This record gives sequence, structure tokens and C-alpha cells, in this order.
Amino acid sequence: MMEKLSAKEFDLNFQNVCEKFNSALQKAGKTADDVILLAATKTVDTDTINYAISKGINYVAENRVQELVAKHDKLSKVHEHFIGHLQTNKVKDVIDKVELIQSVDSFKLAQEISKQAVKHGLIMDILLEINIGEEESKWGFEYSQAEEAVKNISQLEGVRIRGLMTIPPICETETEIREYFRKMYKLFIDISSKKIDNSYMDILSMGMSDDFDIAIEEGANLVRVGTALFGKRNYL
Ligand SMILES: *Cc1c(COP(=O)(O)O)cnc(C)c1O
Repeated sequence: MMEKLSAKEFDLNFQNVCEKFNSALQKAGKTADDVILLAATKTVDTDTINYAISKGINYVAENRVQELVAKHDKLSKVHEHFIGHLQTNKVKDVIDKVELIQSVDSFKLAQEISKQAVKHGLIMDILLEINIGEEESKWGFEYSQAEEAVKNISQLEGVRIRGLMTIPPICETETEIREYFRKMYKLFIDISSKKIDNSYMDILSMGMSDDFDIAIEEGANLVRVGTALFGKRNYL
């Protein structure tokens, strides 16, 4: 866990994020209703998260199941997502706690989500994670497999594909990161235009603390921000 952030520090961070968020919206010709600002809350204590919620954060997400489960019952009312690699044997722990799993990175995982969703009598909203930089170290479907994956997964019971998510490679320049976001937006639009049954394709999740403004300019409608809101994480 990180050291507790003071209310004052959070307020200042949040103000800075909001300014950057609003100016990106303006550049993109969008309003605050068009783009979700989601707080990535890994390593952040629940008091701080609840303070953030009281200040207007409506969406939060964890990337580790254990942390999600530990914090879930202590959180104020908020939209909760899951954004990390999910092992199939952990699906049962998150299925009734989150409203969107953003990080579906294999057909096998989608099948397990389907199975658990049916068991719980619910429809789970999901995004397919795309490994846009084709990095060995990252999870996700390859760009070239994305459409096929949407077609196959959309046929599973109990899951509803809402769009795509990506974590691009670390880039040296703004031009480079912008290219990855453009490539993702194109893929998102291409697949949307196919109107595949039982796939909605209304969410494109990309952009983090360092580049969420660029992501919004390039078509993201959900950005995941951690460090810029809560400060640098210490992993001990
Ligand atoms: C931690 C995390 C983020 C936020 O990253 P920051 O650089 O701290 O803003 C976004 N997405 C995922 C999947 C994460 O794990």
C-alpha cells in the first residue's frame, strides 16, 4: 500500500486531471458525458478511494483480484471495473462484484466468464484487450485476431461485448503514442461497422496518466488514470 494521500493532495491532483481532461474534451469536440474518467486504484487504501468518490469520481477499477475482493465491501457506491489479467480460476471471485471486465484476453477466459455469468443469472459486460504493440510481455489479442475474437466471443451466452481496451507500449514521443491510439480507434470503428450480433462496441478504453488527453483526442471514451490522481505507487 502507498502512504496515505492527504485530502489536499488529492484535491490538487484531481483539479489538475480535470483541467487536462476538460481541455482534451474541448479539443475532441466532446462533453463530459461522452468520456468516462475511471480511477485506477491499485495500492490505494479504501479511505482515500472513498474520499475520491465523495469528490466526484464515479468509476474505479482494480487490476488484481485479491485487492478487489479485499476492498469491494468497504467502498462507497460507485461503478467498479476490473482491468488486470484475470486467471480463469478467479472469475468466480469477480463476477458478482464488477459491472465491466475490461481485460478479456483469451477465448478461454471469455468462456469461463460466460459459464459463471450464466450460473449467477447475469449478463457480464466485457471489453476485449488488444495487444496493440504486439509485445511479448503483454496480454491481449493481436490486432489481426481482434475481429475473429469478437465474432467468436459474441456467441457466448451471458457475456456482452461492449468494446475494446488497450495498454500501448511505452513510447518516447507523443507522435508514436498517438499512432497506437489511432490504430486502435480504426480497429474499433472497423469492427463496430460490421455490426456483429450481440456485440455493442460502444466503449474504447485507452489512455493512462501520461497520455489520457492524447487518447481522448484520438477517440477514447474511457480513460484509466492512477498516478495522476493518487501519486506515485510504492511497491514494497
Ligand atoms: C495501473 C493501471 C492504469 C493506470 O496507470 P497510471 O499510469 O498510474 O495512470 C491503467 N490501466 C491499467 C490496466 C492499470 O493497471
